[in-house]
Amino acid sequence: MRLGVYGGSFDPPHLGHLVAASDACEALGLSRLLWIPSAVHPLKGDRVRTAPQLRLEMVRAAIAGDERFQADDLELRRAGPSYTVDTLRELRARHPDAELFLLAGADLLHELPRWREPDEVMRLATLAVVSREGDALAPESPLPAVAVRVARVDVSSTEVRRRAAAGQTLRYLVPEPVRALIERHGLYGGRSR
Ligand code: ATP
Ligand code: MG
Repeated sequence: MRLGVYGGSFDPPHLGHLVAASDACEALGLSRLLWIPSAVHPLKGDRVRTAPQLRLEMVRAAIAGDERFQADDLELRRAGPSYTVDTLRELRARHPDAELFLLAGADLLHELPRWREPDEVMRLATLAVVSREGDALAPESPLPAVAVRVARVDVSSTEVRRRAAAGQTLRYLVPEPVRALIERHGLYGGRSR
């Protein structure tokens, strides 16, 4: 079984995440892709402010109905910051026969050396570097990684939060059930519609 691992703060999950995840699933022939919201992002710190359970609920709402996708709260159940290496160890123990693929945006590549135990991360999983159509081709990576091309959808959680704060509509940037949760909980300091 080829099992994908998609981590992020998902604050909130948006259509860019969904298109990238779907295209990566097809390109890598994954049987399943786990969406794993991070507790405290070691490199983002308190920039992530939405309660973890609410981010998990938004991920569940975003992926409902796509049987390839599954939300996993393993990083939320662990105390302290979320290190990828710990997550991969846990998944390896849970799925000893699976081949693990770690999805990472090209933007995360330069952070990799600052991760905890990067060599162990690379041993536990195949790094799948997601780059979007129109991105300049990345310089040859010194890492053993596979490249995955996905359709470009230029949305970021930052942009969604900014729009919400400004009271602008979030329609067509996030799935409707996610928009409903943002509205119901009054997230991001606005009355987004
Ligand atoms: P923020 O703006 O708060 O940094 P984000 O939109 O970048 O949020 P994250 O939760 O930080 O979302 O990202 C999780 C993963 O999704 C990362 O691997 C990131 O590269 C990827 N990603 C984020 N936005 C897109 C997008 N529009 N298309 C493809 N991949 C994306
Ligand atoms: Mg980001």
